[in-house]
Amino acid sequence: MHWKILIGMVLGVIAGLIFARFGYQQLIIDWVKPFGTIFINLLKLIAIPLIIASLIKGISDLKDISQLSKMGGRTLGIYLLTTVIAVTTGLLIVNIIKPGLSINEETRQDLLEGYGTDAGSTIELATQAQGKGPLQPLVDLVPSNIFGAMSDNGNMLQVIFFVIFFGIGLILIDPKVSKPVKDFIDGLNEIVLKMIDIIMLGAPYGVFALMAALVAEAPSLDLFQALLWYALAVLIGLGLLILVFYPTLARIFTGIRYVEFFKGVSPAQLVAFSTSSSAATLPVTMERVNEHMGVDDEVTSFVLPIGATVNMDGTSLYQGVAAVFIAQAFGLDLTLGDQISIVVTATLASIGSAAVPSAGMIMLVIVLGTIGAPAAGLALIFAIDRPLDMVRTITNVTGDATVALLVGKSLDKIGPPQVRQWDDYYHKEENS
Ligand code: ASP
Repeated sequence: MHWKILIGMVLGVIAGLIFARFGYQQLIIDWVKPFGTIFINLLKLIAIPLIIASLIKGISDLKDISQLSKMGGRTLGIYLLTTVIAVTTGLLIVNIIKPGLSINEETRQDLLEGYGTDAGSTIELATQAQGKGPLQPLVDLVPSNIFGAMSDNGNMLQVIFFVIFFGIGLILIDPKVSKPVKDFIDGLNEIVLKMIDIIMLGAPYGVFALMAALVAEAPSLDLFQALLWYALAVLIGLGLLILVFYPTLARIFTGIRYVEFFKGVSPAQLVAFSTSSSAATLPVTMERVNEHMGVDDEVTSFVLPIGATVNMDGTSLYQGVAAVFIAQAFGLDLTLGDQISIVVTATLASIGSAAVPSAGMIMLVIVLGTIGAPAAGLALIFAIDRPLDMVRTITNVTGDATVALLVGKSLDKIGPPQVRQWDDYYHKEENS
């Protein structure tokens, strides 16, 4: 599967380049892009039913509430820890490379003028999010109407809240009474998983369409050069997380080998790259970690939907680097205290970022506010945000998958046999 998706992606880039070269962008936008949009819509369409079916199933399979709180505690603890490690890594890199110093006055003005309006509307969105009081995120967690919450993919956390609550109710009632509900949910879960399998058959084509449209619509590369060092700082950080940190963590705690780790997770990474949305990628991540990396669905159905919405290591790293870059470009001196407050706010801002394209940039405004950097500085990084968003989404999704492996291992809920024989498993899979 990952080869097919990769080939789709490469062919998409080539097609986009060729059509753009001869001035036929519109053709791609009219006739190819819609298939990419359909693919993303299918993934989003299945996200809420998937969370409902698999999370209720997962929770009702647990023996009692204490198991749930154990899993919840571990999940949130590891999520927080990896996010803090990610921002800190980003800060170390940006302070060594100092990309902001390579921006001269003229480029700065060009960027501010060129992207000022775009940045303005993003800042507007951030201000709306900001003006609501410190406990608003907690209030937002509890929906007043479950159908209202389910009708908007942006309310995933509210749906998760309801579903966990429902699952707890299900565990606590008489098993005789809960049996038909459980059986129904089990059946529903199977159906949803099968639907994902069917959607994934179209993944190579969907990814082809998305990449072709992305390349055809890409802005000119002129200003990219000025932002080269900044982009490099973000990419080095994300690369370290994706290629070194996660596979090493997974290796140490679960024994999974480097190649097997990527064999398991790469289709989700490729979909993350092409859609720039952890939420849209969620069905693929769940399928891969559960069916191909052997983590029990009790764990994946709990850890991954929550991770897709709150655990964004790539986003937090990017917010740290971008905040310092903008401060450097505006000639602000940051104290150690400022850097520490970046760690805290970027961690919170990444938790608050929605799992959709560009969300990390909106929440970056909050980080800029705490260090006194101008929000208008967003215009400096606007031009190059999309490609960085694609890579930070890979990071977010890989982080979620890694934590699912870790939590699965710590609860002894990883593959048959208990300590996975990765080779046997893959051979079995290949032979079947
Ligand atoms: N696009 C990212 C995601 O969905 C969020 C971000 O903008 O950083 O994971």
